Amino acid sequence: MPELPEVETTRQGLLPLVDQTIKEIIIRNGSLRWPVNPNLNKILTDKSIRSISRRAKYLYINFEHGTLIIHLGMSGRMQIINGNAKAEKHDHVIFKFINNNKTLRYHDPRRFGSMHWVTTEINEHFLIKSLGPEPLSENFNAGYLYQKLRAKKQCIKNSLMDAHLVVGVGNIYASEALFLSNIRPQKQSLKLTKKDVNKLVNAIKFVLNAAIQKGGSTLNDFTSVDGKLGYFQQEHQVYGREGLSCYQCQNPIQKIILGQRSSFFCKICQK
Ligand SMILES: [Zn+2]
Repeated sequence: MPELPEVETTRQGLLPLVDQTIKEIIIRNGSLRWPVNPNLNKILTDKSIRSISRRAKYLYINFEHGTLIIHLGMSGRMQIINGNAKAEKHDHVIFKFINNNKTLRYHDPRRFGSMHWVTTEINEHFLIKSLGPEPLSENFNAGYLYQKLRAKKQCIKNSLMDAHLVVGVGNIYASEALFLSNIRPQKQSLKLTKKDVNKLVNAIKFVLNAAIQKGGSTLNDFTSVDGKLGYFQQEHQVYGREGLSCYQCQNPIQKIILGQRSSFFCKICQK
């Protein structure tokens, strides 16, 4: 599943499309998680992309008169293709541009992604309005997180994956950040000290920034906008390493299930 670093990498890869004008949008299959607005072509033809931004795992393609909110779901990706190569299976929405022979394709084999055209206040949109702070913003800091965790009896791993608390810290990055901050994933949230929370906030920002710098990726078949593969999971410290030696202490990494998701940790390094 594309996580925040892959979405940010995708955003950066799409930036050459800013100021480009839409010539045509072809919806080959609008049955995504929610139906794609069938009038998209009419709405966006001859309109120029003003900017491309991101909120949580949503890409915002901003036009003067509204925003197209795109989510990549479980298996979606956006690709810029040179020339007029034939669309492939699972290329569900195709964007063509005036004065540019590139096409942008939304490709999504499992069709859990989405595309919403929004002309009202975007922060009030049902997908966006209850999202917590961005993990890489100043609003996500130790003071904020400590305050939020004080009332939480659930384990810290599940708290980190709650989008009301903070967005975009997926399963892999939660495991990695907890390892770097020496905190067991199953530890009760309210038992974290201020020092723990401080380390954890720094670790979350560190793992996400490192992944963005490496071009995103966590998923073996993830391909970034220009077709380059992202980095693979052998670079993870604990995620996916059950039974292998911890890089810090050589003890075997353990796996447990929390909130129906696999979690990996070292029982020596993490308390
Ligand atoms: Zn260890």
